Order: sequence, then C-alpha cells, then structure tokens
Amino acid sequence: MKLIFLGPPGAGKGTIASRISKDLNIPHISTGDLFRKAIKNQTELGKKVQQIIESGDLVPDALTVALVKERLNNPDVENGYILDGFPRTIKQADSLESFSKIDNVINFVISDEQVIQRLSGRRMCKNCGEGYHIENMKPQKEGICDKCGEELIIRPDDTPEAIKNRLAVYYESTAPLIDYYKEKGLLLDIDGAQEVGKVAEATSKAISK
Ligand code: AMP
Repeated sequence: MKLIFLGPPGAGKGTIASRISKDLNIPHISTGDLFRKAIKNQTELGKKVQQIIESGDLVPDALTVALVKERLNNPDVENGYILDGFPRTIKQADSLESFSKIDNVINFVISDEQVIQRLSGRRMCKNCGEGYHIENMKPQKEGICDKCGEELIIRPDDTPEAIKNRLAVYYESTAPLIDYYKEKGLLLDIDGAQEVGKVAEATSKAISK
C-alpha cells in the first residue's frame, strides 16, 4: 500500500506514520527526517538545506524530488510505503505521479491553535529523532529519550518565528494539495485532534476500507 500523510506541521503525521508502518510492515519515509539526517552528518545536501529548514521555509522542489526518487529505488518499498511530509507542493505531487502510483492520501485535520500548542511543546531526541511532547507525550524520565537514553532537544524549526512561518508556508504551498487529491478521489480526512491512539485507530480503519 502506497500512502501519503498530509497535514500541517504538528498534525501527528510522523507519530502515526511510525505506528502504521510497523502494523503494515512498510517503510515510513519522512523527508524531514532525511533532511535532518543529512544536516547531522553535514553532507553536501545537509549543508545546502540547513538554513532553509531552520527558518521553516521549504527546500527547493528539485532537491526534494530527487531525494524521494532515490529513496523509492530502495528494494524495501516493494510492498509500499508511507510518505510523511512529501509532497508539500503541487509541483512535487505532479513529479511523484510520474514515478509512483499512490493508493490513498490521509489528511490529518487540526486547528492552528493546536498546531501552535503541539509544536511549542515538542521535543526530539538528538540521537534517534524520536518525538515527544512536554504535556501530551512525556518521556519516562524528563529530558531523556525512552528509546536510546540520549538528550531531548527543541527542534531549531520549533521556535515561535519558525512555527509562524511554517504555518504560513503550509497554507500557501501545501494546503492546495487537499483539493488536488480530493479531485483524484484519493483523499481521506482524519480528525488529528484526538488522542494519538484514536487517530491511529481511525487511520487504520480508513485505509482498510
Ligand atoms: P518535517 O519534519 O516534515 O516538519 O520537515 C521539516 C522541514 O524539512 C520542513 O519545514 C522543510 O523545511 C523541509 N521539508 C520536509 N519535507 C519537505 C518537502 N516535501 N518539500 C520541501 N521541504 C521539505
């Protein structure tokens, strides 16, 4: 099954994708994670995109599409995949269509107030990237990752200015994809404001229909 997870930043795409990918035994491909890994390793790509990502702007389409195209050449996508955070522009969606056929697009719906509440309390493991929230998804030990024991940090693009910019970028460039996929009959809306377990349950149900 080939799925796209769509929604504003903080809608829970990554958290739900990580659960559903285990259930379906298909890879969870997050362009944000791929870019953060490149930045951490200070690769050529990482150096190119670091500033863009920290400001909350979008990485140019050509770079992003090339990265995804390369990732989808990996044999582990044989039975499908979840794309989390890609496509984010109509141009990216058109390119994707030229090299892969999507089964469903899950659109996680949440309000701007919730986006701000979630992103401003979000924490991330600096080693493995696991996500937490200071109120809704606390680690067992404050400031420490449950999975690998490393320190939790605030993502550089979760600052108030970057959050504001990311929301504006979402409305300008990414939200038009809702109608784009609705017209193709692929869109499934999920209430992303519910508790994580319920969102995961609703998502599993929607894609099994
Ligand atoms: P995310 O982890 O999905 O919130 O992505 C973090 C950042 O990576 C975004 O704010 C963008 O700067 C960049 N990024 C991730 N996916 C894309 C994409 N499909 N197109 C352009 N930039 C992206």
